[in-house]
Amino acid sequence: MKITDIKPYPVWIGHRNQTIVKVETDEEIYGLGEPGFSSRELAVAGVIKHFREFLIGCDPRNPAALWQEMYRSHYFEGGRVLTAAMSAIDIALYDIMAKSLGVPVYQLLGGKQRDFIPCFATCEMPSTEALIANARLLLDSGWNVIRSNWAHTHEGDVYEPRESLALSAERLVALREAIGSGPVLGIDFHHRLSVAEAASFCQRMPSGTLDFLEEPIRDETPEAYESLRTMTDVPFAIGEEFASKWQFAPYIERGITNFARLDLCNVGGFTEAMKVAGMAETHYIDLMPHNPLGPICTAATVHLAAAVPNFAWLEHRVSPTETLEPNFDLYPQQLQAEGSRIYVPDTPGLGVDFNEELAKEKPFEFWEAPHPRRLDGSRTNW
Ligand SMILES: [Mg+2]
Repeated sequence: MKITDIKPYPVWIGHRNQTIVKVETDEEIYGLGEPGFSSRELAVAGVIKHFREFLIGCDPRNPAALWQEMYRSHYFEGGRVLTAAMSAIDIALYDIMAKSLGVPVYQLLGGKQRDFIPCFATCEMPSTEALIANARLLLDSGWNVIRSNWAHTHEGDVYEPRESLALSAERLVALREAIGSGPVLGIDFHHRLSVAEAASFCQRMPSGTLDFLEEPIRDETPEAYESLRTMTDVPFAIGEEFASKWQFAPYIERGITNFARLDLCNVGGFTEAMKVAGMAETHYIDLMPHNPLGPICTAATVHLAAAVPNFAWLEHRVSPTETLEPNFDLYPQQLQAEGSRIYVPDTPGLGVDFNEELAKEKPFEFWEAPHPRRLDGSRTNW
């Protein structure tokens, strides 16, 4: 079997872009993948076009060797743009291999260890009352792992960390009192805080309030997280931006993170994700995968989650206040959640397909993520 073409489709899906990568072969089997690194889709599509030059003619059933070739084929190895492109191609190669053997992808990863993938939902906190009401809606419909986002204290793109962390702490403490000790509760700060701010937030959490704190600070410096670690005992969930096992290594080996927020579409696809999962297993760290993209990312992550022993919860885009309808026009075949579970599919490959003609009709549109500023006008993190 040989690769005959690789086509990236960055498509506008109504509020942002999603990139679908199709790898074609000479045996009428094709595979689908999706890259992370969203909001800079054209850069990733450009890398895919470079990789296409030497991947055409290769046997798609050697993803580990092709991973090495993609990683080592340039002097400036690594980085999030390159590994996002590699991730999409690697996922598509597994889809091809599994389809060619007539098995679901998880079989190629060692088989399945669980029948369904438990998921967590996300709750906004516009007010304490709304947060509690939203969490109750989720709990009543069977969700027992809830992550909230940070509190907004200003309209638009203004973000004041001290105000936000104070209000977030107040509302989370009230939520824990309201829902009792059973449900798992976390918060994501989208790396908006400094070490001092994150410590102040954690110190406002009575013991037992919070089960995990997701990415309070940026990840470039593991030592910064080690410093924060000395100031709090709240478990950390870090890693959604990591683009290789090497980026995970210090966080796992030094006990900095307690959950691996691995993103299959950023880290390097199945080839790299299985290695990270193994590294995490040696430190009794469970995966809590990041899943913010489309149905291809979700399906691929479900197969990974099925195959690893060390797994906590999969992020699933569920909101208590709005119905997020699946796009069956663009993805006529996709996995569906049943409440807080996604059952592991037995169809060959990933179990996802897309409408290529429709993808061609939904061209990429430029879109910018928010560019937050503090009240004084200075830039801060999105
Ligand atoms: Mg996050």
